[in-house]
Amino acid sequence: MGVDAGPGAEALAALRSARPLLWLRTSASRAAPGGDPVVDPALVAQAQARFQRFAPLLADLAPETAATGGIIESPLLPAPRMRQALGLAPNQGSLYIKADHGLAVAGSIKARGGIHEVLQFAESLAMREGLLGARDDYRALGGDAARARFARHRIAVGSTGNLGMSIGIIAALLGFQAEVHMSADAKPWKKARLRAHGVKVIEHTGDYERAVAAGRGSAAADPLAYFVDDERSVALFAGYAAAALHLRDQLRSAGIQVDREHPLFVYLPCGVGGAPGGIAYGLKMLFGADVHCFFAEPVQSPCFLVGMMAQGGEIPGLPALPSVYDLGLENRTEADGLAVPRASELALGAMATRLSGVYTVSDDRLFADLARLYESEGLRIEPSAAAGFSGPERVCGSAAGTRYLREHGLESRMAGATHLAWTTGGRFVPAEEFDQFLSRGRSSAANP
Ligand SMILES: *Cc1c(COP(=O)(O)O)cnc(C)c1O
Repeated sequence: MGVDAGPGAEALAALRSARPLLWLRTSASRAAPGGDPVVDPALVAQAQARFQRFAPLLADLAPETAATGGIIESPLLPAPRMRQALGLAPNQGSLYIKADHGLAVAGSIKARGGIHEVLQFAESLAMREGLLGARDDYRALGGDAARARFARHRIAVGSTGNLGMSIGIIAALLGFQAEVHMSADAKPWKKARLRAHGVKVIEHTGDYERAVAAGRGSAAADPLAYFVDDERSVALFAGYAAAALHLRDQLRSAGIQVDREHPLFVYLPCGVGGAPGGIAYGLKMLFGADVHCFFAEPVQSPCFLVGMMAQGGEIPGLPALPSVYDLGLENRTEADGLAVPRASELALGAMATRLSGVYTVSDDRLFADLARLYESEGLRIEPSAAAGFSGPERVCGSAAGTRYLREHGLESRMAGATHLAWTTGGRFVPAEEFDQFLSRGRSSAANP
């Protein structure tokens, strides 16, 4: 298995030939061309407060959130059977799951960033147009007067599927016109689900970048249109980052310590980098050197890894922000949520001093872990969301991982470590679709 690729040339060779690898950020691979982008840490708490202000309205508009008072959050689940299924020894730490695959409304991690950005837009519009009144009861925005105002505005986005589901459905619930530009790899059931919610779905033949460009172009010409820009948006980033505040409370309630003696390893499936970048940003803000964030990407779509390596001058002869195509890769993967050719510059910049490393995963391994998770813990996730589960093995079992632990003085502390795999999507996957994932996963697991 090519998981031990070391620094420099070896990592680059594994990357180009689509072999799984673990890449570690070194001090040399720091310094984004534009420096650390200014993401104001205050935005994180502001995003959380915004979710709270809107909670009573969301409880009205989306009945599935009524039980949590309109707060869209996910549980933190212990996963001892999955730990065993992955072959992780007890003295290598415990395994938990941050279960974003069950998030309401969007059915994926995109609920965090996407819903936050639409709420922020709705809030500023409501303020500008005096729709909230003096009592600041956000349920007023569910009334006919506010909805009639919202209906004049169009919210547009480009997506491989899940961001579209998040933006499209929350926008439609609030009464906006919603328009989602989908790339060719978007799953038919995701398009059908959007249309059933009254969202206009526009299909494009190209990849994710083409869909984003089409959405951006369509909104630019219309003063009443608002475009959610997955490649550049600070509002999305802040919505994701707010997850860290809630996770801190969950860790405390579960009695899970995070400190020098009890390191926290977080494995985040990565597409353009906004979701994992925002979350890693929030976690580093709270836990500093005690949290170690690793991104996980498909072997055919390692855009964030390519971006990080290029930032650090590790890929000579390529443009400043290369795509996976520039390395001869195809961006072809069943992990549709991660099928992105070029990373977000905002996220790359924010991770330049915060990310521990990136590893890549084959589609076969994604399906095998999807099946393992279903069989061990009974959880149903989509292929993208399985990318976190090979993380502990990479960190604890590969040459690069062992080097990371040694360099950070962690070798003797692993029995007290917590590994956290972030399961990023799956709630609305149709049963027939999931059964196909499962049978593919079972045969991959049997013939690794
Ligand atoms: C979008 C998505 C991700 C990654 O988010 P990015 O912001 O694109 O990096 C991970 N998993 C799933 C299921 C997603 O839909």
